[in-house]
Amino acid sequence: MPIALISDIHANQEALQQVLKSIRSRQIEEIYCLGDIVGYGPNPNECVEMVRTSCKKVLVGNHDYAAIGKTDITYFNKHAKHAALWTRKQLKAENKKYLNTLKFTHQNDDMLMVHASPTNPEHWYYVMNPQDAAVEMQSFKQPVCFVGHSHIPAIFTAEKEISENSFTLKTEQKYIINVGSVGQPRDGYPESCYCLYEPETRQVEYVRVPYEVNKTYEKIIKAGLPEFLAKRLLKGY
Ligand code: ZN
Repeated sequence: MPIALISDIHANQEALQQVLKSIRSRQIEEIYCLGDIVGYGPNPNECVEMVRTSCKKVLVGNHDYAAIGKTDITYFNKHAKHAALWTRKQLKAENKKYLNTLKFTHQNDDMLMVHASPTNPEHWYYVMNPQDAAVEMQSFKQPVCFVGHSHIPAIFTAEKEISENSFTLKTEQKYIINVGSVGQPRDGYPESCYCLYEPETRQVEYVRVPYEVNKTYEKIIKAGLPEFLAKRLLKGY
């Protein structure tokens, strides 16, 4: 049975609902969330609660930490900063407490999971290309590491990027796989993205799921969040 990996939901309730529906329709029971449940979007409480009840393991992202005042947001751009401060005000105490319990990594013999980078999970570095991947791979022993953070689905070896929607990992090869973003895709497609992985066959598959982008757009505007954060959802940038 494959596992489902989701990341970067960013308080987008409509997107998360459709992704969970898609995962359940495949009878998949194990869902792992790689962080950034909140930040940017209009429904932080709803998303924290849905993730908490639906996922087997949930890791922390930089926007989750920003929302509970555990990370420095001076390096955030103005839209991210605005949204982080807004989210801080919106989050229920119970949900803040929950975000505060989340860990940076999850691992077993076969795989590692982390929001940003395996070498320094708490520094939120990006893994954007095979060169970054080659450096990061020195810090873990497992054959595969799943990450989020960039919002761009990608499969990296130390030598190249593999641009396939469905791919079987080779033995004797190490991979870093970005699972894409549920709530704010940045690869030019507005549809939510998540990743399936079958540990037995080592099969990776990306799934894209359309959702009511216009509804989220309206909610962002109504909440007084920056219009840019609404607009980018329409085109996935
Ligand atoms: Zn993110």
